[in-house]
Amino acid sequence: MPGPLLAVIVGLATCQLGLYLTTVVLHRALSHRSLTLTRRPLFAARVLIWVSTGIKPREWVAVHRKHHAFTDVDGDPHSPAVSGFFTVQFANVVLYKKSANDPDTVGRYAKDLPPDGWDRALFDRGWLGLGIGTGILFLVFWGNWHLVVIAAAVHVGTYLLASSAINAIGHRFGKRPFTGQATNNQWLAWLVAGEGLHSNHHAAPTSARLSFSSREIDPGWWVVLALRRLGWARVRHDELHLRPQAVPAAAAR
Ligand SMILES: [Zn+2]
Ligand SMILES: [Zn+2]
Repeated sequence: MPGPLLAVIVGLATCQLGLYLTTVVLHRALSHRSLTLTRRPLFAARVLIWVSTGIKPREWVAVHRKHHAFTDVDGDPHSPAVSGFFTVQFANVVLYKKSANDPDTVGRYAKDLPPDGWDRALFDRGWLGLGIGTGILFLVFWGNWHLVVIAAAVHVGTYLLASSAINAIGHRFGKRPFTGQATNNQWLAWLVAGEGLHSNHHAAPTSARLSFSSREIDPGWWVVLALRRLGWARVRHDELHLRPQAVPAAAAR
């Protein structure tokens, strides 16, 4: 296989790894407590999040919980209804950083995730994590820098575009089985580890499973099931718990 093609495939694969870690660990486990990981798998996930995304979990959790607290109204960190579709789709990282750097956001929405010794020593240094991730690519490609650059650029570019699409497309285009701006897009769900079923998620945020019917497919849930089978995760509830405010769109007509 030609080197550049292999580099693109590696970049896409590590992007998917980052998206699955984001949905299962940062989103479903830490933000909504819809599942709980046991100690060692959680630590491994923290290391992988650090080297593949450089994200600080408590910041991600705080920004995301704020999104649920102010969905599509003033105060939402990344709503297309507030900031515009193109800004959220293509500059979400700027919106995210602005919200994450606000000490009030982290102080208010991630009180349950205070930094521990590992955070202070390593995981709070996002650039160090990304540097180590780049070093691993350097070993994979045996020092061929232009392949490292291709793989890293594909990884960063697709991760940012795909995770932004959950907030931009997932609040603008698609089916709305429940009232509110959030939408379901099965095609997007395939690309972003199930997160494209975003209307479902806003209707039942404590559900570890984002698919509500046999016609909907949530690949992130398959990972949760595998983790549970290995004894590495406990799911909060198997049955569907809709929020009291979740109104099926058909009932609202
Ligand atoms: Zn949303
Ligand atoms: Zn959520």
